[in-house]
Amino acid sequence: MSRKVQAIRGMNDILPGQSSIWQYLERTVADVVQGYGYQQIRFPVVESTDLFKRGVGESTDIVEKEMYTFNDRNGESLTLRPEGTASCVRAADQAGLLFNQVQRLWYTGPMFRYERPQKGRYRQFHQIGVEAFGMATPDIDAELIILTARLWKKLGLLEHVELQLNTIGLASSRDLFKAALVAYLSEFKDQLDTDSQRRLDTNPLRILDSKDASTQRILENAPSLEDFIDEESQVHFDRLKQILEENNVPFTVNNGLVRGLDYYGKTVFEWVTTHLGAQATVCAGGRYDGLVEQLGGRSTPGVGFAMGVERLILLLDELDLVPESAQARVDVFIVSLGDAPELASFKLAEQLKDNENDWTVLRQCGGGSFKNQMKKADKSGARFTLILGEDELSKGVCQIKDMSTGMQTECGLDLVSNYLTQEFKK
Ligand code: ATP
Ligand code: MG
Repeated sequence: MSRKVQAIRGMNDILPGQSSIWQYLERTVADVVQGYGYQQIRFPVVESTDLFKRGVGESTDIVEKEMYTFNDRNGESLTLRPEGTASCVRAADQAGLLFNQVQRLWYTGPMFRYERPQKGRYRQFHQIGVEAFGMATPDIDAELIILTARLWKKLGLLEHVELQLNTIGLASSRDLFKAALVAYLSEFKDQLDTDSQRRLDTNPLRILDSKDASTQRILENAPSLEDFIDEESQVHFDRLKQILEENNVPFTVNNGLVRGLDYYGKTVFEWVTTHLGAQATVCAGGRYDGLVEQLGGRSTPGVGFAMGVERLILLLDELDLVPESAQARVDVFIVSLGDAPELASFKLAEQLKDNENDWTVLRQCGGGSFKNQMKKADKSGARFTLILGEDELSKGVCQIKDMSTGMQTECGLDLVSNYLTQEFKK
């Protein structure tokens, strides 16, 4: 036997036992976001490397060390998308959908980052992203957050996640803060972790994110971003908080929340959970009014977020929140014995699908002994098994076995649909 080819590390198959949960989550999200008027956009998995360098930012974790970048046969540098916002802006702007217009968009699909795989962190993972363009006021930030709260409620997750909120101000206020932060931290340079030492020059805001204990200790007395926030961003933030309060969406202001991507300004937020260990953030986003222009388009405000699908599924699984109706099931299993009954079983199956009940009807394929077929019926988990042999066919009937009680009833072939409709209602 030749050696089997294995999947790439950190890139997972979604197997039949799990795919119904994925479909349930995707369906629920689509229902909620479309209910707020968001339309789906689909863009390629591969883009010019330049898009992410310029869009996400050269000194971010993603661009510095996580991208899957390769040259295609023409020598052009391409990258498997590590996130969706830059691509979404590229696609919408290229189609002329952004400048001077309001767009509410969402997307879903795989993203790729070269990270150390662990629970809730993979190299191919999936995001559902929502982006709103052309609206500069805090009411749209609030709409997005309220929409996510509705989604958590629908999924049964609301009490298991917490909203963290911050404002990181305009670029000008961040620049003043960065200068003050660098001046302060430079005095303690040797006591910072090596990543943070490097970030002093490249991306000092990210030092606030450091998990290193010594760095965190030094940060305790560092200047606070809060004190540098400009008036415009403060007014924006206050109004956002007010709308959330009025709508009973609780939040915690986390002054340390800066987010890892360069394009954010003003609002940033994360929904976090205590159930997933270090991979605690299930949804993250913020405002990015400068991004469209940074990517060569005409200035258009934007705000959005992305959810990590794998983390949400882990959460639903762990908390046992997947409703039974979302799991794959068999309603009716059909067993037939002999050539003519086999032919008739097709008609019976199609007749059951013609009604409006949306049943899952499985025909036993490939024949087999009665005993064997009944074993398969049992294993399928079907509610009812229909049995069609020569005798039944000659009388124009079939046997209906209720698999939960073992009771068997004879029923005219024309009446099976009606009979089952009544039974399923019980
Ligand atoms: P983290 O701090 O966990 O690395 P991030 O800030 O890099 O997250 P974003 O770029 O904001 O993440 O992506 C939005 C969401 O996508 C995250 O909150 C998370 O739920 C999910 N996500 C990000 N990276 C991964 C990954 N490698 N595997 C699985 N989910 C991920
Ligand atoms: Mg990351």
